[in-house]
Amino acid sequence: MLPFNIACGFCKQCERGLTNYCLTMQPEPALAGAAYGFADMGPYQGGQAELLRVPYGDFNALRLGEDAAERQTDYVMLADIFPTGYHATEMANVKPGDQTIVFGAGPVGLMAAYSAVLRGAGRVWVADHQPDRLRKAEEIGAIPINTAEHDPAEVVKEATLGLGADNGCECVGYQAHDPQGHEDASLTLNGLIDSVRFTGDIGVVGVFLPQDPGGEEAQGELEAQGKVPIDFGMMWFKGQRMGTGQAPVKRYNRALRDLIAGEKAKPSFIVSHELSLDEAPTAYEHFDARDQGWTKVVLHPNGHSNGHKR
Ligand SMILES: [Zn+2]
Repeated sequence: MLPFNIACGFCKQCERGLTNYCLTMQPEPALAGAAYGFADMGPYQGGQAELLRVPYGDFNALRLGEDAAERQTDYVMLADIFPTGYHATEMANVKPGDQTIVFGAGPVGLMAAYSAVLRGAGRVWVADHQPDRLRKAEEIGAIPINTAEHDPAEVVKEATLGLGADNGCECVGYQAHDPQGHEDASLTLNGLIDSVRFTGDIGVVGVFLPQDPGGEEAQGELEAQGKVPIDFGMMWFKGQRMGTGQAPVKRYNRALRDLIAGEKAKPSFIVSHELSLDEAPTAYEHFDARDQGWTKVVLHPNGHSNGHKR
């Protein structure tokens, strides 16, 4: 099993466990971090391929047990979204008994909610406006909030004597949009600042960019330069902390692997389709269009395809 991060294992960042910001694999000296098929993260092609060249394979690869084939749809989640969702809960400092709100019920949001449940959170809300995704959240014991019908901050405050959630996770990113489809990169961040109580922590794993050339039309000039107007005054007043950025997959994947092996975690609950590599373009179209029921696609590079999983 390989992380989406590409890391050397010996640079200043990797030595501190920050394999998400490796200095060796990023060729641009002013930047840090490398990944397969991600803009500005090195000259590496995406991992959806028949063959993959892996730099520093001994360091990056995680060995799986004898149940590797049997539980492959669970283990493949260790490459990215399961550790990424977990990282959101780590930055948000989710502890046993906490009340946690997750913005976004896409694959990463569902993994963050699932991680909060695994960490012993007392109550987990998931806010989104896609009913099929909210149903998945409900399946793992989270409380769905349909943002087309309710303001998540109001729901959470109502349930917590007006105090707000102990912590929150942002799993949407700069393309956050309201139920009418209007894009607003500040939507989920401000929703979290409002929903999380005084001194609460917020973990942001949704993708935000230093610039978004296509963003001017959708959101305006500021957003095109990666500038997102957030309620920073309120955030400061409330003494909240915010953690940001991509997940250091290697920091978590061994422990999460062993939760799967020990049958304590089954992240494949989000998998809606298993398809062959040839079917990837169609799958991406359905996923981008957020078509009903396309929660998560697993691609089989060797051509195996059994269509719908459920
Ligand atoms: Zn490194």
